[in-house]
Amino acid sequence: VTFAGLGLAEWAVQTCKELGMRRPTPVQTHCIPKILEGKDVLGLAQTGSGKTAAFALPILHRLAEDPYGVLALVITPTRELAYQLAEQFKALGSGLHLRCEVVVGGMDLLTQAKSLMNRPHVVIATPGRIKVLLEEDPDIPPVFSRTKFLVLDEADRVLDVGFEEELRVVFQCLPKNRQTLLFSATMTSDLQTLLELSANKAYFYEA
Ligand code: AMP
Repeated sequence: VTFAGLGLAEWAVQTCKELGMRRPTPVQTHCIPKILEGKDVLGLAQTGSGKTAAFALPILHRLAEDPYGVLALVITPTRELAYQLAEQFKALGSGLHLRCEVVVGGMDLLTQAKSLMNRPHVVIATPGRIKVLLEEDPDIPPVFSRTKFLVLDEADRVLDVGFEEELRVVFQCLPKNRQTLLFSATMTSDLQTLLELSANKAYFYEA
């Protein structure tokens, strides 16, 4: 299997090569074609399995086709993970004019609200901070009204730490016809519940 064989555009294949990614990992091989097809995906995959590129590459592929439309919201449990995800998005999207914003606690709310108003292509957020922005600033929910992808990274942790209220606010602000991509180290009953809500799902269980 090659990255080109998964359906990714030539520029993306080239970027992978430049980053030293010679072959897709199992989670990439299974998830990338499903995401490109428009499916909701659950990837059961540990950190280090290549899961970030498994969702970032098809999102960037879509972005290249539609630079005005795509907006992806990626929720991750910690600030540190948010910055790491942003680094990977920037590296994989180096061939595009990617605008990626990180929205986490501890930073100035007004600055973050302004950066969201500039309609970045990808927003990477922790649950607490995105909830505050969506609830307290009436200009923010419309930013997400045409979101194409919601990613829950480390979804087992996001769901486990008691972010139900935060996720409820996020889900309410996103359009129903988006794609939902869940990446988790373990299968949990909360994830099962989320999957049952999706009419458009593809599963992947890593061996
Ligand atoms: P992740 O599982 O997303 O935390 O990724 C772990 C590391 O693997 C990252 O530093 C990636 O740059 C790297 N990586 C992702 N996909 C591949 C691949 N297909 N080949 C080699 N390295 C990869």
